[in-house]
Amino acid sequence: MTATGERHAVVVGGSLAGMLTARVLSAHARVTVVERDRLDDAAGSGPRPGIPQARHTHVFVEGGQLALESLLPGILGELSARGALPVGMPYDLVQHQSGRWYERFAASTRFLSCTRGLLDTVVRERVLAEGGVDLLAGTGVTGLVGDAERVRGVRVRKRGAADDPYEIEADLVVDASGRTSRVPTWLGEIGGEAPDEETIDTGQGYATQLYRLRPGAEDPGYHCLYFLPDTEQPLTGVVVRVEDGLWVASLSGPRGSEPPTDPAGFLDYASQYPHPYLREWLSTMEPVGPVHSNRSTANIRRYYERPGRRPAGLLVVGDALCAFNPIYGQGMTVAAQQVVALRRVLGAGSGVAGGARGGAASGGRLLGRGGRRTRDVQRALAGVAETAWAISAGADRALPGVESTGPGPNALDRLTGRYLRRVAAIVPGDPGAGRHYRSVLALTAPPARLFHPRIALPALFRAPRATPGEPPLVVEGWPGGEG
Ligand SMILES: Cc1cc2nc3c(=O)[nH]c(=O)nc-3n(C[C@H](O)[C@H](O)[C@H](O)COP(=O)(O)OP(=O)(O)OC[C@H]3O[C@@H](n4cnc5c(N)ncnc54)[C@H](O)[C@@H]3O)c2cc1C
Repeated sequence: MTATGERHAVVVGGSLAGMLTARVLSAHARVTVVERDRLDDAAGSGPRPGIPQARHTHVFVEGGQLALESLLPGILGELSARGALPVGMPYDLVQHQSGRWYERFAASTRFLSCTRGLLDTVVRERVLAEGGVDLLAGTGVTGLVGDAERVRGVRVRKRGAADDPYEIEADLVVDASGRTSRVPTWLGEIGGEAPDEETIDTGQGYATQLYRLRPGAEDPGYHCLYFLPDTEQPLTGVVVRVEDGLWVASLSGPRGSEPPTDPAGFLDYASQYPHPYLREWLSTMEPVGPVHSNRSTANIRRYYERPGRRPAGLLVVGDALCAFNPIYGQGMTVAAQQVVALRRVLGAGSGVAGGARGGAASGGRLLGRGGRRTRDVQRALAGVAETAWAISAGADRALPGVESTGPGPNALDRLTGRYLRRVAAIVPGDPGAGRHYRSVLALTAPPARLFHPRIALPALFRAPRATPGEPPLVVEGWPGGEG
């Protein structure tokens, strides 16, 4: 509690999950977000050390946009006003999978495209403007305060300062410090128990180059060029338009096929994709800055909801709870959906979105002593990650060369894998099946939707329809219409 008797929550990490969590908790308590990075230069909008992945393509699928908008009404409009772009799938894409180019049918879902820096900046500015949240930037959390029964705060140290660490008291601590979270270790230091952890690592390596079109160059006629991996070729490639006339090109491959990070090597790597168009097009564009790489891409799940000697007053959200292989584009969406679930279990309902402290009574029960067990809340947050985990962990478990601490694929996984390969073959030429398929990937529908008759019947009983033989660069009505 604060000196004024108000309840106090500390959030560790001021990135997407942390700021959204702070927004929801601010309906119940005074909130302090402790962020290790300094966020003062250039308003913190540029790439920063704490989120190295921000230099790489970050698509925000529909399920995440719906969650974000419900937490911060009007934010999608703010993002659009600052250059974020809705990309209609499949209409705005030139997309290749399993030897086939997708037909550019009318869009059934849209992902939001912008740099990760823009998304984080707009979210952070908005959360701080709503009030009730203090940001303590340039300060790292170095441990928990409390015991195996209850967490009572955090130990922090200001970056670059000679000062000793100090403690911040809190009724609730939320770990939103990302996939490298140290909370499992910190729990041991206060007599608690680390959670079971499962890792499934394909060794996926990313290399990313920013580009812009050269002066006078013709617009390519789409917003995104996308190569998906398949059983014949393991490489993923995304080149997507973002704000300020920039394009982000992220090339990636699993262990043994990782892309190099020198400019010439990057272009050579592009020629390994199943069609020469990728390299040809990249060669026409002007690179902006160096090539950046990232190898922290394992699926990691920490089972805090399972029984164990874990204190009350501690929650874990976002990548710190469950991180995914990024080629599936799910992490930010799951983080935002978890925060919506947190709001629900705290009982704030729309009172939070409206800025009122309407849910204080039930939130107070969670935050106060003798309140609802934090494990129940943790279980609700973990439940949100199930679909995304089934998609990415399920697919990666079966890949050659994967390093996994969990069980390998069973007979059902192998059968599902065979079925999904048939689905992938029909979707490029079938708008109805594609609509259902994309709704699962956009995390707006459960995986069971993949067995909807509109997908299952053509996948199991019909030959795939004909699709374009060459990249469909030109499509009627683009931009501005949908075929
Ligand atoms: C290469 C790559 C590409 C990706 N592409 C996509 C994509 O296309 N779509 C998508 O949805 N997701 C994507 N992701 C996943 C996405 O980046 C994460 O899911 C998302 O950032 C999770 O947000 P978070 O707030 O939980 O953690 P993070 O964004 O990782 O933030 C953690 C924060 O905690 C801070 N911190 C860490 N330790 C401490 C400490 N001790 N004290 C104080 N602060 C601390 C860090 O500085 C940072 O600000 C990608 C990931 C990678 C690696």
